[in-house]
Amino acid sequence: MSKILIVEDESDISDLITLHLTREGHETHCVANGLQVQPAAVEQQPDLIVLDMMLPGLDGGQVFKRLRADTRTTHIPIIILTAKSQVVDKIAGLELGADDYLTKPFSPRELYLRISAILRRVKKVTHVSEVRRGRFLIDRKSMKVYLDGSPLDLTTTEFKLLTTLMENDTAVHTRADLLREVWGYNSDVATRTLDTHVKRLREKLGAAGSHIVTVRGTGFQFDSNPPGLPA
Ligand code: CA
Repeated sequence: MSKILIVEDESDISDLITLHLTREGHETHCVANGLQVQPAAVEQQPDLIVLDMMLPGLDGGQVFKRLRADTRTTHIPIIILTAKSQVVDKIAGLELGADDYLTKPFSPRELYLRISAILRRVKKVTHVSEVRRGRFLIDRKSMKVYLDGSPLDLTTTEFKLLTTLMENDTAVHTRADLLREVWGYNSDVATRTLDTHVKRLREKLGAAGSHIVTVRGTGFQFDSNPPGLPA
């Protein structure tokens, strides 16, 4: 059973979603005003939020930004609902970095399947909230990375960048992949930004910075046992 927060002011739609999700064994709460979402999410700590874009009080885009900006709610996956005519909203939703989006009218079954897929993905990650990579220990719950037992002082972006590189430590992560995974779908972010962050991250790692390997012309790779460092 998962806790799902439904944000929708059209009661027939929120009732339909509620009916379907509770039938599948989920616990649901509904909020109809954009201004109520942030406090409700902080208090209830839902496993997922279904967020309609057209809301009274505060529109969906602003609600989304608030949720992502707050450390108490930034980790909660969000599915965005948009009306068919709101092509702009759809693009905005993707740029914001929503986990998924659905265009109205949608079938409750489709929404349920999308929700299940995200919850499975999240569960896999939180299940292994502590991951070891050589000398590094990642604690996703507290968003901290330890090097030889000492916590590193990383910004949120540096944390995302480092853990993304570590997630698959044999793979080369292309610049495009990293920009998408760390910065979301924001097209404003330049490749230079990535290089700057890698540089700063390496500086913070000191000698262990050589774990982040530049793959010329492609991107970066995490090497848990680089040459020249004790294993
Ligand atoms: Ca609405």
